[in-house]
Amino acid sequence: MKDVNYFEGTPTTNVGEIRVTSLLDGWLSLDGGAMYGIVPKVLWEKHLPSDEQNRVKMAMRPLLVQTPTNTVVVESGIGQAIPPDLHERYGIHRIGPTLDQLVAAQGVDPATVDTVACTHLHWDHSGGLCKFVDGRYVPSFPNATYVVQGGEWDIAIAPTNLHKASYAPESLTPLESQLKTVKGNGEIVKGLSFDFTAGHTENHAVIWLESGDEFGVFFGDLVPTISHVPLAWISAYDINAGGSFAAREVLYPKVLERNAKCFFYHEPGYPVGQMLQQRSKYSAEPLVQR
Ligand SMILES: [Zn+2]
Repeated sequence: MKDVNYFEGTPTTNVGEIRVTSLLDGWLSLDGGAMYGIVPKVLWEKHLPSDEQNRVKMAMRPLLVQTPTNTVVVESGIGQAIPPDLHERYGIHRIGPTLDQLVAAQGVDPATVDTVACTHLHWDHSGGLCKFVDGRYVPSFPNATYVVQGGEWDIAIAPTNLHKASYAPESLTPLESQLKTVKGNGEIVKGLSFDFTAGHTENHAVIWLESGDEFGVFFGDLVPTISHVPLAWISAYDINAGGSFAAREVLYPKVLERNAKCFFYHEPGYPVGQMLQQRSKYSAEPLVQR
């Protein structure tokens, strides 16, 4: 079986005048069969080996996005949303620092982060929006506006039985006074915008970066890793796999036409890639070799 070169760096790349750094919050081991949906193991294990419990190792890589006008964090890792005694159950290995410390390690004062945006609010994406201080959750970025899809927020803070396992509402409610909800497509700040896809959750939205004639796209969980790019390689965690397939069919031609840099949140290897197309088959390759 192939060995994976897990990538522990924090690569920085440019999209026009926007500087993008992929941070690393930690690792999560998820069932390989669930992660690859209908794709048989004989195919997915060529990309990622599984452990003795059939789990594959996923990274969590929030983005620090510095535009000429704004300092933005996209996605937030697991942070402290899941109590340490449950970490073994979910195969969680956090690196240690909280998200504001990861940002500070890049030479950016967390107090200067003005905007935080999320593709959706599952706990492996939203857990670092707040941090745990003196027995309670407080926003990780005191001066930021937190921009999320309104429908996603409503489900996340009052999850039904269907959604309960995926959200950690107590780590989100302290954000209420700094929250800005949007519906569907729309600008987050100049150069960053939501592109509503649904599929993975009812209100999932990918995030576009645009500067001059250069583009980037952050896929959230619509395409969690480089190996998930083929149209039908859709995770069984998606609440609507058919919706994800349809969203990909619309999104991918746009990604190619714009020659967009692709940012993969859960990619265990190098997380920045370029999409390729051969007839109706899509794939991607890492943009920078390790
Ligand atoms: Zn995820």
